[in-house]
Amino acid sequence: MNAARSLVSRIARGALAVGAALAARGEDLAVPGGGIIDVQFTSPPSAETRRVATSWTSTAAKSVATYYGGFPPRRATLKITPREGRSVSHGRAFGWDGPLVTISLGRAATGADVSDDWVLTHEMIHLCFPSVDERHHWIEEGLATYVESIARARSGDLSPERAWADLVNGLPQGLPEAGDRGLDFTPTWGRTYWGGALFFLRVDVEIRRRTRNQRGLEHALRAIAAEGGTIGHWWHIDRVIRVGDAATGVPVMREIYDEMKAKPVLVDLPALWKELGLVRRGRSVSFDDSAPLAPVRRAITAP
Ligand SMILES: [Zn+2]
Repeated sequence: MNAARSLVSRIARGALAVGAALAARGEDLAVPGGGIIDVQFTSPPSAETRRVATSWTSTAAKSVATYYGGFPPRRATLKITPREGRSVSHGRAFGWDGPLVTISLGRAATGADVSDDWVLTHEMIHLCFPSVDERHHWIEEGLATYVESIARARSGDLSPERAWADLVNGLPQGLPEAGDRGLDFTPTWGRTYWGGALFFLRVDVEIRRRTRNQRGLEHALRAIAAEGGTIGHWWHIDRVIRVGDAATGVPVMREIYDEMKAKPVLVDLPALWKELGLVRRGRSVSFDDSAPLAPVRRAITAP
């Protein structure tokens, strides 16, 4: 979720101001490759919750830093609300007053409980992309949905098989249904999260195909972040695309955005999985390295 929106952020601003006054003092956590996350709790945690939270935050930050070659916001705040139970919930990213993630963590959560968490990585990826007009919200959620699995695979937090299985199982929810008017005009849950992820998968594969695997989506995203395109900085979508395409040298974001923005595009996912050498077995996948785009698939999730 990304709450850098006008009405939502105005409401949240009041709630967060109260939360900030009650917050326990933060602790700076260094991100590998440079960058700081100020980890705060909205109520004092137990020593065990603090330990679990530190390791959980480090793992997510390492995935983001591995993918981006650093931590683009340089400094961000993570505000953790301890709750009953042992799960992670209520993740949100904000940018109106500096990069901020708010999230809940169960007081009984152990390292094993958070070891498979994707939410914190997803929210941290939101910090690395500019805020765009509401009708392009799918590009913010699609980015976080797609890059989360890939970034975790690259850092070794997720096996490549698991990362691809997550995409193969999730992406059909992003295909257009009856009445679809394209990504900019169909703000359903499926099209926002998985339709947006499908846009980025197509962009990543096509950049790699055209550049013979010399460039990938991460080069576009790193350039956008390096030009100051991080959360809370409002960018026109054309600027996002221009900076991204300039970094890869191929106009792939422009072409695929123009194709998908205002009309339903039926992507033949089974054919794409075959080209990439992804073989489905139930909800798992295995790899076929003789497939034509197997090198592209390997490069996307390679550590
Ligand atoms: Zn999100």
